[in-house]
Amino acid sequence: MDLFEKEKRYIASCYARQPIALIKGQGAVVWDSEGKEYIDCFSGLAVLNTGHCHPRVVEAIKQQASKIMHTSNIYYIPTQIELAEKLYRLTGGYKSFFCNSGAEANEAAIKLVRKYTGKNEIICAKNSFHGRTLATLSATGQEKYKHGFEPLLAEFKHVAFGDADEVAEAVTDNTAAVLLEPIQGEGGVVVSPEDYLTRIREICDRNDILMVLDEVQTGMGRTGELFAWQLYGVKPDIFTLAKALGGGFPIGAMLAREEVMDAFKTGDHASTFGGNHLACAAAKAALETIIEEDLPGRAKELGDYAMAKLEELKKEKPIIKEIRGKGLMIGIELEKKCSDVVERARKNGLLINCTADKVLRLLPPLVIEKEQLDRAIQVLGEVL
Ligand SMILES: *Cc1c(COP(=O)(O)O)cnc(C)c1O
Repeated sequence: MDLFEKEKRYIASCYARQPIALIKGQGAVVWDSEGKEYIDCFSGLAVLNTGHCHPRVVEAIKQQASKIMHTSNIYYIPTQIELAEKLYRLTGGYKSFFCNSGAEANEAAIKLVRKYTGKNEIICAKNSFHGRTLATLSATGQEKYKHGFEPLLAEFKHVAFGDADEVAEAVTDNTAAVLLEPIQGEGGVVVSPEDYLTRIREICDRNDILMVLDEVQTGMGRTGELFAWQLYGVKPDIFTLAKALGGGFPIGAMLAREEVMDAFKTGDHASTFGGNHLACAAAKAALETIIEEDLPGRAKELGDYAMAKLEELKKEKPIIKEIRGKGLMIGIELEKKCSDVVERARKNGLLINCTADKVLRLLPPLVIEKEQLDRAIQVLGEVL
């Protein structure tokens, strides 16, 4: 039996997998089981901001794995404390709760919102994505993910993304928070108007409700700043991270202003694996790499460069409807469905992703070389 047949036989069929198995990676390049080489502009879904197998991350994992990997949060975890201290300094005073994924980080945020405010209604955006657990699915603003899983939690309201007036109108006495992605990822790389988040901040302040940002995809340098809220000059009360936090190792985090986080008391929330020694060693190495190699700055520079080249391409290719994004989170909306473009790109040695049916999404490692990015855009031009 070959790999694909075995997968079908032994694994839940939740994923529409592409017919390759990637078995080796370095920086922005990966190789499949047949030895074919690809430029990776997908990064395992915005996870590998520091690239595949960054030597610093690999070394940190090796070192930590040979010392101690896991003890549970019943004991102090030095690497977890070091990681939290770094995040505290870099964010100007946010405390961390560690978990293992984006959905869990958002779950933790939803629980904290309830605990802190004593209220339970949360305003979210249409077309958003916040995860697959029942609460985060309830927060998600796309019906396609919800079919077959109702009833979900009722306390989530969905308004048009980018329209602050709609948020203001949706506020009631029972509103606890507004939960938004700074830039919608799964929804098709949808960038909000420049003043949107500052207006949301004002609405939250005026109504005494919490502003929660889901930075699971936008975080860790992807958009040109370490966190996308820095791009927009606002400070959320709570924000969540996962994807790129561990440099490829699974870890998530929910960060909150000190006063808000202190609403969680001993026993209020927990995770067996959350922030274990190994995950935190990987995350600490990834974070140090992102800062020391100025990967946010690199994302901005290369992102601007790529966007300009793609705008040139758009002039030649009527199939391209719109180019949008920030840093190295780029969406190319096509006039038609994009799955066959993804397939042809792959055959030509380029890994990209299609989201929201018509949006090609580029999420290259932030360490990608300029020549590799040029090559990626060239392939894209060919297959378009
Ligand atoms: C991927 C993603 C999630 C869910 O993360 P998981 O680790 O898959 O649970 C939540 N929010 C956003 C914005 C995401 O992109």
